[in-house]
Amino acid sequence: MLSYDVVVIGAGLAGLRAALEAKKSGASVAVFTKKYPNDSHSKEAQGGINAAIDSKDNWESHFFDTVKGSDYLGDQDAIEILTSDAPRVIKELISFGTNFSKTSDGKIAQRPFGAQSFFRTCYSADRTGHSLLHSVYEQALANSIKIYNEFMTLSLVIKDNKIVGVVVLDLSSTRTLTVNCKSLVVATGGAGAIYKKTTNPDNKGDGMGLAFEVGLPLMDMEMIQFHPTTLVPSNKLMSEASRGEGAYLINSKNERFMQKYAPTKLELASRDIVARAIQTEINEGRGAENEYLYLDFRHLGEEKIYSKLPDMRRNALNLTGKDMVREPIPIQPGQHYTMGGIETNSKTETQIQGLYAAGECACISVHGANRLGGNSLLETLVFGRIAGKNAAKFAKKSKLVPIK
Ligand SMILES: Cc1cc2nc3c(=O)[nH]c(=O)nc-3n(C[C@H](O)[C@H](O)[C@H](O)COP(=O)(O)OP(=O)(O)OC[C@H]3O[C@@H](n4cnc5c(N)ncnc54)[C@H](O)[C@@H]3O)c2cc1C
Repeated sequence: MLSYDVVVIGAGLAGLRAALEAKKSGASVAVFTKKYPNDSHSKEAQGGINAAIDSKDNWESHFFDTVKGSDYLGDQDAIEILTSDAPRVIKELISFGTNFSKTSDGKIAQRPFGAQSFFRTCYSADRTGHSLLHSVYEQALANSIKIYNEFMTLSLVIKDNKIVGVVVLDLSSTRTLTVNCKSLVVATGGAGAIYKKTTNPDNKGDGMGLAFEVGLPLMDMEMIQFHPTTLVPSNKLMSEASRGEGAYLINSKNERFMQKYAPTKLELASRDIVARAIQTEINEGRGAENEYLYLDFRHLGEEKIYSKLPDMRRNALNLTGKDMVREPIPIQPGQHYTMGGIETNSKTETQIQGLYAAGECACISVHGANRLGGNSLLETLVFGRIAGKNAAKFAKKSKLVPIK
């Protein structure tokens, strides 16, 4: 039987960052992942990652925006950890080789994102998740972390309220294996597949299901985020970076309508407000075919679109046949993020000893009722690291409990 100090389920940003930290803390570590690491959903993140790195910004302001954005339902101690650690995360990513977009004077470029009082979203064009995931994956490989690709976890094995192992299915041979471990991190991502219109249909909520099966509580499962702008009919994301770079929302009467719903922030109000505004316009008969509105990029000009939003333009062209340089793009709200998940404290501990959860499958809860764009990538790296460190610490003082 395979045995490791620490097992990590999932090889997105949260899982890989947890594995890296556990390995650096001296534990033997293995990652079991249903998909190849670089095909994890983290690669889909387009817009960016938030951090108060500008000398005119500060983490307290990032903290307040996050608390307010959460509708005051986020855990403020956890939000303090998230936002105060963000500048360190950016430095770490640079040391990992992440290729952030730069300003003309060589600084890390930051773009405006919804409901933030400062332009604090760092990005790699409109493929930030791809860039981050490859950097962290490279570190995992450089640190010789054992990764079992295409191994789906089927169940967690618990004895006397302590994690002792997992049962996994090797998807290529269809054999099942039992793996013995001292501690375990669940990092399996969100649960978008529950919804018909979603930006993340590959996210099946496996980790939440595994945890629920062994009696762990799930928290805030009613808190689902709908992204205002997804393409019609595929529901592929048109990131908030589009509105951050200046795109307008218009209805079928060609009216720019956000003034009515958010007079100051307009298109850059928080996602819940913008999504509700779009749906209200559709419900009140100002949508095309009663189904969708438009995102208008035409005034941004070819140069800005090609340099800042290249993937978005290509996706829109491939999936709707419309070129944003010349035509408005059809959009509608779609499920985007699962704020709820496996209940954890800010050390990422669950109620089962040795069992930790991090990333979108967990609910710490730093997002409360509404996640700010750019805070989720940050969460995976801040709390993935904490989970890996604590899982290794727990393993150090534990013995392997054999599984019969
Ligand atoms: C289209 C899109 C754009 C986004 N853009 C942004 C953005 O710009 N900024 C931002 O901050 N956030 C963004 N987000 C949110 C953010 O990308 C995710 O919340 C985050 O990447 C989740 O990372 P994760 O590591 O928790 O999970 P994931 O990256 O989803 O990884 C989950 C891992 O678990 C594995 N897995 C799942 N089930 C099992 C199982 N049973 N057994 C074994 N392995 C399993 C998967 O194979 C995968 O490796 C975006 C989300 C989407 C959908």
